[in-house]
Amino acid sequence: MTKKIIIIGSGFSSISAATYLANNGYDVTILEKNSSFGGRARNFKAEGFTFDMGPSWYWMPDVFEKYFNDFDKSVSDYYNLKKLDPAYRVYFGKNDFIEIEDNLEKISKTFEEVEKGASKNLIKFMTEAKNNYSVAMEKVVYKPGKSILELVTIGTIKRLRYFTTNIKSEVSRYFKNNKLRQIMEFPVLFLGAKPENTPAFYNIMNHADLGLGTWFPEKGGMHKVVESMIKLAKEKGVKFKSNQNVDEIIVSNRRIKGVISNGVEFHSDIVISGADYHHTETLIRNNLKNYNESFWGKKVFAPSSLLFYIGLDRKINNLTHHNLFFDVDFNKHASEIYDDPKWPESPLFYLNFPSLSDKSMAPDGCENCFILIPIAPDLEDNEEIRGKYLNLVLKRIEDISGEKIVNNIIYQKSFCVKDFISDYNSYKGNAYGLANTLFQTSIFKPKMKSKRIKGLYFTGQLTVPGPGVPPSLISGKIVSSEVIKDYPNQ
Ligand SMILES: Cc1cc2nc3c(=O)[nH]c(=O)nc-3n(C[C@H](O)[C@H](O)[C@H](O)COP(=O)(O)OP(=O)(O)OC[C@H]3O[C@@H](n4cnc5c(N)ncnc54)[C@H](O)[C@@H]3O)c2cc1C
Repeated sequence: MTKKIIIIGSGFSSISAATYLANNGYDVTILEKNSSFGGRARNFKAEGFTFDMGPSWYWMPDVFEKYFNDFDKSVSDYYNLKKLDPAYRVYFGKNDFIEIEDNLEKISKTFEEVEKGASKNLIKFMTEAKNNYSVAMEKVVYKPGKSILELVTIGTIKRLRYFTTNIKSEVSRYFKNNKLRQIMEFPVLFLGAKPENTPAFYNIMNHADLGLGTWFPEKGGMHKVVESMIKLAKEKGVKFKSNQNVDEIIVSNRRIKGVISNGVEFHSDIVISGADYHHTETLIRNNLKNYNESFWGKKVFAPSSLLFYIGLDRKINNLTHHNLFFDVDFNKHASEIYDDPKWPESPLFYLNFPSLSDKSMAPDGCENCFILIPIAPDLEDNEEIRGKYLNLVLKRIEDISGEKIVNNIIYQKSFCVKDFISDYNSYKGNAYGLANTLFQTSIFKPKMKSKRIKGLYFTGQLTVPGPGVPPSLISGKIVSSEVIKDYPNQ
């Protein structure tokens, strides 16, 4: 008999898991609570603008390629990728910015202009980062995090030093200039923790950034990836159902029986949840959870975010596709996220104009703008606070870039802690799941497999390998391999 699998949620990890399993002959149905698919990577359209709601940086193109290759397809069968040049711009003050171009040779020239000798050091740093990236991809990232033995390989043992030091110290060994240090520390912010709390092994993110480059899926932006994955999943037979909030996971004698959604029972042999881990465990009756509240309370969560989706009635000239505003004290903002959680006095932020690369994302003569301010999870969230921060960042954008935008806003929507909770059932409104600190990496991540319920699995950014779109694709692949091993479809 073909085994039935219900997958909760339609984020990248869920779609990935569903496709691998359907490809192996399982009968797979995805139940998504929202009206559209893609989870944190949904999009929406308003007033002629198309807004990607979450991810906007397409890094690690090799992971996406590998994903499609697993089904004898290629990324180019679904979408065209454009390498961005410049990849991004980092502002340190008024008319004071560094532009990161599209290859290491050009980037090292830029570094040399800022600090004598930095070009050579960058190449040395990046050679190590590239080696770590190869070790990570071949030996670590695709493992289920079940046993320390998974990590014991010649490659990892040789690189042990990178697990005992952090990215901040590592960067400071190579670069003295504070701006260069900030550029080299920036990529690990995607992993949700401070650079001083992130193992130096995560210099793999520097390889992803400066080595592999920043890409953009043409004609649709990041959501094009979601659409492509759904197309492939449907070709394999995956069924997608929207507006299906799963209210309960049905368990009998410690075995999965299915789920209840909108009052209807869906029977299955296996349930995989790509919804936030903590929320999934609230769907289980009795004391059959993997982790209790105090476990979650002690975890370091990645930040939440205050997001603005803005439509402008004119084109932008002075900014690029991706812009980072590092014109304020990074340490103070980081401390307001991690050490003493509160609304930041003077936040760093990220500003994105996808319509500079894809005209279809805004009406003619207009520009599509996305602003992200990282904040601590669980903060008080109301319209007044959101409005205050919008004014603050708009003023900084105008002052620093010289681009006047305040009077050109024709559409505006915000998204913050409350929305992360209501839209995604996110624990404390986190945006990117669990931070990749040393003791929350690999075998220390919440486990993919339920310890107490046969047939229940977890995938996504709260389990291995961690936050981000490429890791979510990988997470779906890992969980599907576990299911195939435990429940062969014969
Ligand atoms: C603002 C923002 C910016 C980001 N930027 C980047 C970036 O630039 N690059 C990058 O690589 N990564 C980025 N990320 C991270 C990346 O988007 C996530 O790591 C990834 O999308 C998470 O995928 P996931 O599979 O874990 O699940 P999610 O996307 O979290 O999906 C989980 C799904 O489960 C559904 N669900 C929850 N509860 C239930 C229920 N009871 N019943 C049914 N369905 C339910 C939710 O509605 C949701 O659709 C960003 C994230 C955010 C929020």
